Amino acid sequence: MARKKVLIGNWKMNNTLAQTEEFVKASDELVSLANKKGVVIGVAPTYLSLAYVASNTKGLKVFAQEVHYKQKGAYTGNVSVEMVKEVGAIGSLVGHSERRTYEKETDLDCNLRVKSLLSQGQEALLCVGETLKEYEEGLAYTVISSQIYAGLNGVKKDDMSKVTIAYEPVWSIGTGKNASEEIAQDICKFIRGLIEKLYSKEVADNITILYGGSVKPNNIHGYLTQEDVDGALVGGASLTGESFKALIENI
Ligand code: PEP
Repeated sequence: MARKKVLIGNWKMNNTLAQTEEFVKASDELVSLANKKGVVIGVAPTYLSLAYVASNTKGLKVFAQEVHYKQKGAYTGNVSVEMVKEVGAIGSLVGHSERRTYEKETDLDCNLRVKSLLSQGQEALLCVGETLKEYEEGLAYTVISSQIYAGLNGVKKDDMSKVTIAYEPVWSIGTGKNASEEIAQDICKFIRGLIEKLYSKEVADNITILYGGSVKPNNIHGYLTQEDVDGALVGGASLTGESFKALIENI
């Protein structure tokens, strides 16, 4: 069975509640357009907009951008899996490069978050990707395999249907410097191969692997026609209904 195309918007620290309301007004149209094209769509709003988006939209996958791996306790500034689940999120991003860079999240942190999400029936969208220096030194495959092996350490085969991987070269996020379609295909194929080694061909054939990094309406088509690129994780171009619509239209 062919994998469905998936488009997820990562809003990062963008969209106030008022701006979120504007997006939500456009969401029915986005969902119906996506359904016509057979594309699954979703967004990862800030915590402050999460409940609003989850309660006021239908047919949109709503992710948190981050969760703590502990269930509760003295972790000032953090939010648990149970909390995001309670307000309607179906899962969370894990290990976005901005979290790895600015919040010093390690592969072990990512692994604990992935397992905590899965153990509570939530989805984990695990982000991996190399820096420009690593890319230039030919270390992309090494970095990505260690992020995948560590991030999925101890994750059971039966839970893999709730895992999505996003390949996001750090040098391409928010920079306008795109990885070529060939690089995106090559690394997504490499990741699928790792999943096959770790689990099985069936798991590898079914897992959704996204590309992310300066995806825009004018280049999304090229990425999504690559065999192993099942969709896109999009930052800047996902923030307004208008721009999100243009992304779907161009898939
Ligand atoms: C992202 O936030 O994951 C991302 C890919 O951002 P942008 O599309 O803005 O590069």
